[in-house]
Amino acid sequence: MTGVLFKNCAAVIVNHGQGHEVLRDVDLLTEGPAIKSIGPDLNAPVAETKDASGWFIYPGLVNTHHHFFQTFVRNRADLDWTKLSVIEWLDLIYPIFSRLNEDCFYHSSLTAMAELIKHGCTTAMDHQYCFPRHAGKHLIDRQFEAAELLGLRFHAGRGGNTLPKSEGSTIPDEMLETTDEFIADCARVIDTYHDAGQFSMGQVVVAPCQPVNCYQDTMVESVALARDKDVCLHTHVGEGESPVIEARTGQRTVAYLEDLGFAGDDTFYAHCWELSQQELARLATSGTGVSHCPEPVYLVGAEITDIPAMHALGVRVSLGADGAASNDNSNLMHCVHSAYMLQCLAANRRTHPVPDPAAFLDYATTGGASALRRPDIGRLAPGMAADLFAIDTRRMDYVGTRHDPLSLIAKVGIGSPTDLTMINGKVVWENGAFTNVDERALFEDAERELIKLNS
Ligand SMILES: [Zn+2]
Repeated sequence: MTGVLFKNCAAVIVNHGQGHEVLRDVDLLTEGPAIKSIGPDLNAPVAETKDASGWFIYPGLVNTHHHFFQTFVRNRADLDWTKLSVIEWLDLIYPIFSRLNEDCFYHSSLTAMAELIKHGCTTAMDHQYCFPRHAGKHLIDRQFEAAELLGLRFHAGRGGNTLPKSEGSTIPDEMLETTDEFIADCARVIDTYHDAGQFSMGQVVVAPCQPVNCYQDTMVESVALARDKDVCLHTHVGEGESPVIEARTGQRTVAYLEDLGFAGDDTFYAHCWELSQQELARLATSGTGVSHCPEPVYLVGAEITDIPAMHALGVRVSLGADGAASNDNSNLMHCVHSAYMLQCLAANRRTHPVPDPAAFLDYATTGGASALRRPDIGRLAPGMAADLFAIDTRRMDYVGTRHDPLSLIAKVGIGSPTDLTMINGKVVWENGAFTNVDERALFEDAERELIKLNS
């Protein structure tokens, strides 16, 4: 008996492949890693029955862009974007990044993962592009170790940078790899950790940091490796670099990458706020996805990405928290709300169409599953992974909001941690505590590493 039976759920957000819909007053039954059934009056011999009266049960959120290591440089007044140019900021931040050691990557990953899980995220893709030479080559390995400890479904974006500052990049030599080093380690982590099977808890994405900081060779070799191993491709696109790429290659980033084969339904880009309508249409045609990270738009002052336009063109849209260099929290639930509010701001200025709040739940669930090529996650239906979170709505926070669960997260916002987060059929967070680990001990270990880093 491995299942959990959630009895008398006030609402379950189900999706049989035709979009999310709300079922009221039903039960939800899990069996092993999957959802067995959703409906009224379910009964089965299970390991645990939970009284879910008053609970709204949502599909777990899927985070498609983050930089976990940056949790160790957050909330610092000396690194405030609003006071610094990008160059000044880079000059301050890279000396800190280059001091990070293997333990820093482990504990900063635990820090970000823990916050994500508390706020309903059940799958996360981290774009780990920081490889200081002294930190060694086992940083992705330590991230998988952290994900296993917390029970997070983890996609490791193996990033990297190859172009030296002397040839126009922004990366200090201490953090550069050769293309061969980068590709060899991508192949190693794919062979070691990538599980393409149903309900896989670990996958790898080939993710050179950004074309502006990599040789063309690196991008070409990444495409060859990803296609050979049948894994996804990811990089930063359209965050201000297009004129630089155009000066270097004669093409803006989208056309440059498409010509290199770094596009398609196995590929998703982070950001894309500077893309023209024509470039967005190219993404729709090639099937390339976008990970929209709303919170950097506030902090860095970038243009507001036209998400309704992307959606209307048929671009696959997902959501990312992004790293603490441009978003000081690791809370994807908060990003669903902030992404919606940002589009409302643009709509009020009549620069973008009026957004549909329920669409932002789609971006953060089915959109994320599509970006990561995971047909087994992102929605609640029999046979899907039992990845979900529950909110007990019998609180003053939710009076007046309960009639529309689909819009609740985007329009109202969920300000506190979930009451329960389940991943792959296992409850990993419940009643304010992790079920497998002592949060206070994790906190103290992380703080100890931070103090060593900053001393
Ligand atoms: Zn990023």
